[in-house]
Amino acid sequence: MQRLVAIWTILLFQFAATLSGFASSALQRYEYSRLEMGTLFRVVVYAESSESAESGAQAALDRVQELNGILSDYQEDSELNQVCRTAFENPRVVSPELFFVLQKSLQMSRRTEGAFDITIRPLVKLWRQAGDEKKLPEDQQIQEALSRSGFQKVLLNPLTRSVRLRQQQMELDLGGIAKGYALDEAMRILHQHGITRAMVDGGGDLRIGESPPGKRGWTIELAGDTGQEILPLQNIAVATSGDLYRFFEIDGVRYSHIVDPATGLGLKRSPQVTVIAPYGIEADALATALSVMPPGEGLALIERLAGTEARLSVLNGREKRIISSSGFPP
Ligand code: AMP
Ligand code: MG
Repeated sequence: MQRLVAIWTILLFQFAATLSGFASSALQRYEYSRLEMGTLFRVVVYAESSESAESGAQAALDRVQELNGILSDYQEDSELNQVCRTAFENPRVVSPELFFVLQKSLQMSRRTEGAFDITIRPLVKLWRQAGDEKKLPEDQQIQEALSRSGFQKVLLNPLTRSVRLRQQQMELDLGGIAKGYALDEAMRILHQHGITRAMVDGGGDLRIGESPPGKRGWTIELAGDTGQEILPLQNIAVATSGDLYRFFEIDGVRYSHIVDPATGLGLKRSPQVTVIAPYGIEADALATALSVMPPGEGLALIERLAGTEARLSVLNGREKRIISSSGFPP
């Protein structure tokens, strides 16, 4: 009797395996893209029909658009900008999404000892203007902008889901973290639509789901000073920061769009940083933070975080040095 049960079980398993083989071979690849958050968002999915692929991918992209209306510092009337204007006088109750990103941002500030700081917007603006005018900011301008920043001045109350800013004329900038969160949310929406074999690309930052049918993972090309590298990955997020594409020059010196919150200065020669983490929100924030931190300190932090790896390409004089955390994929 027992033997019969065992044989039946094996047969059932084989039948189920054959069925799932059919199911995954019926999956087709579909790709959609849209301009969102000032960059190109691309959704690649494997689905059984173009209808299910289309509805899942468009819902995921709609979610990114919705988040932009909450988190953008470019859109005058975004929820973030409304908070900047009003949360000094009174605490302001905010959406769960904004509260979550603010909480995560402050957690990242504490973890990175202030290298990641969303209150640096006055400085980011100053350096952007400097790039446009090709003229370095005055020291006194930097000091004034610094006096309006500091993550300790953002107060969050989880009980009321409210935000208060301890100083007038503070400005918040989620440019180093919002895209990563949008990738996570896009993937969550795809899952809601029953799509798990998917990848979402937000201007080069990625959230990767289960592998394509019959593959070990998604083939990811890391563009960097080291050239193209290919990694097979699944169920993970990848974020890159650095001045490879986004920088400006004043008097022949190259400045990054990332500011060191300790000095208020735009980074010169920031490294090229790639972070792999379970979620996009963390990968994105850490990649920005590691651009600011001394490389050794940044990697020591990465070694303490579960499931998180990083690789830095640091320019030392004319020489490039690549350093990675111990588990970074070879
Ligand atoms: P990313 O490309 O993810 O490294 O983000 C860069 C963007 O983050 C900049 O364009 C600024 O909007 C913002 N940013 C600059 N410096 C910092 C910093 N030290 N901490 C947090 N965000 C920053
Ligand atoms: Mg970032």
